[in-house]
Amino acid sequence: MYQIVFKRHAELMKALANPKRLEVVHLLRQGQLAVSEMERMLGLRQANLSQHLMVLRRIGVVNTERRGKEIYYSLTHPNFARASELMRVVLMQRLGGQAAKAANQLTVVTDPVCGMRLTPARAAHSYRFHARQYYFCGTGCAKEFKKL
Ligand SMILES: [Zn+2]
Repeated sequence: MYQIVFKRHAELMKALANPKRLEVVHLLRQGQLAVSEMERMLGLRQANLSQHLMVLRRIGVVNTERRGKEIYYSLTHPNFARASELMRVVLMQRLGGQAAKAANQLTVVTDPVCGMRLTPARAAHSYRFHARQYYFCGTGCAKEFKKL
């Protein structure tokens, strides 16, 4: 009877065994995100992203909530992010400092001017001010910020 748990575990790992789906789980560790936000953060087209989200939803890793026109995704349990993070820690140690630096590129940050949520990896501009790094979208917010 215990084998059924390993079977389910393997099915779960199989569904997660995709770089983009792992990236989705990683992004959702900080909380709920809209499909449009994830498209921007992952650099994926909606059709492609939807396929990944469908796989994660079917296996019970994410759930959805509709708010107005937007569909928001979140993890069904924080342990999905934790388990993934534990393996990432081992990989970072193996890959060294550069990989650790790259990992910071996937934190959800907010453009201080327009409030758009983005990741440093795909921000159009970044600007260091008072020992803090700020990230901006591509619509002139960095210029606005520098004027202030
Ligand atoms: Zn902006």
